[in-house]
Amino acid sequence: MSRAFNFSAGPATLPEAVLRQAQAEMLEWDGAGASIVELSHRGPEFMEVARQAEADLRTLMSIPDDYAVLFLAGGATAQQALLALNFAAPGQTVDYVVTGHWGKTAIKQARPYVNVNIAADGEAGGFRDIPARADWRLSKDAAYVHYTANETIHGVEFRDIPDVDNAPLFADFSSSIASEPLDVSRFGVIYGGAQKNLGPVGVTVVIVRRDLLERAGQPRADIFSYASHAANDSMLNTPPTWNWYLAGLVFKWMLAQGGVEEFARRNARKSKLLYDTIDGSGGFYRNEIAPGVRSRMNVPFFLHDPALDAAFLKDAKAAGLISLKGHRVLGGMRASIYNTMPEEGVQALAAFMRQFQQAHG
Ligand SMILES: *Cc1c(COP(=O)(O)O)cnc(C)c1O
Repeated sequence: MSRAFNFSAGPATLPEAVLRQAQAEMLEWDGAGASIVELSHRGPEFMEVARQAEADLRTLMSIPDDYAVLFLAGGATAQQALLALNFAAPGQTVDYVVTGHWGKTAIKQARPYVNVNIAADGEAGGFRDIPARADWRLSKDAAYVHYTANETIHGVEFRDIPDVDNAPLFADFSSSIASEPLDVSRFGVIYGGAQKNLGPVGVTVVIVRRDLLERAGQPRADIFSYASHAANDSMLNTPPTWNWYLAGLVFKWMLAQGGVEEFARRNARKSKLLYDTIDGSGGFYRNEIAPGVRSRMNVPFFLHDPALDAAFLKDAKAAGLISLKGHRVLGGMRASIYNTMPEEGVQALAAFMRQFQQAHG
């Protein structure tokens, strides 16, 4: 068996040490007589797994005590609807800043419930840059301001936290959560599916400032209420226990590796190496994103001749580098280089790209 370097955008590569531990614990978890996925979510074994995962994520991300941490099903997309249902009154205005595909998705999910004001939109420029903060048109009484910290498909990332005056700031961190130190206290809500930077698909992390849970929001079933989930430790119904457990293993692994400070350094080196390789190729490869907002997590790039795409992917696979095909929205290539992508993987990709250029340039 040989594992390739996997540049998938999500579900994404997991650390081999985590997969090995999960494998070792698959048949029996810690003397429990059964796998953790076979045990009640309310039993002492899983309750301990859940408690430890939350404690580790709080340590990893320095999450203040006045924030609740929820582990939910439904993916980031479901949260995009729930944000509107929980934190805005029916028809209330909410501000959205759109910097790529996922910002548009967030609006689509919220629109049935709220009055969406698009405060800024990078689409006219092909989402190659982030509209300057000075040009945003924020509403006076918005329930919240929503933006996408890292656009997974377009490869655009906010490199600082925008200042938005009075409304709480809500951010989709699906593809950049825990990739560097972050001042959580600047946000009302941070959410993200775990399948990019934090581990397995099927569990979504929602970090919410507790005072916001007192907002009435809109008529909704209990199961769509963040306050109810928070009051029930994310066990209002059966949570995705296996995914939660695996995410917990990733948190432990990240802490042992040195935490978010260490991942910030690795992620900076990895992305710099790829962008340097692209920029230094004399136009053989290109990335069109404004340099100041290039994503450290997802590096989309194009070959100068799309007729070479198939050969690039085939040769890459033969070299042990997989899942480099770009999203169908953009075409071309995309290397997703989350926390769990080792530096050796990116070094191997950069070396392969130079070789491929020599052979075809
Ligand atoms: C992947 C992704 C989503 C969608 O996540 P699901 O878990 O599939 O719902 C939303 N936002 C961003 C930024 C993403 O990368």
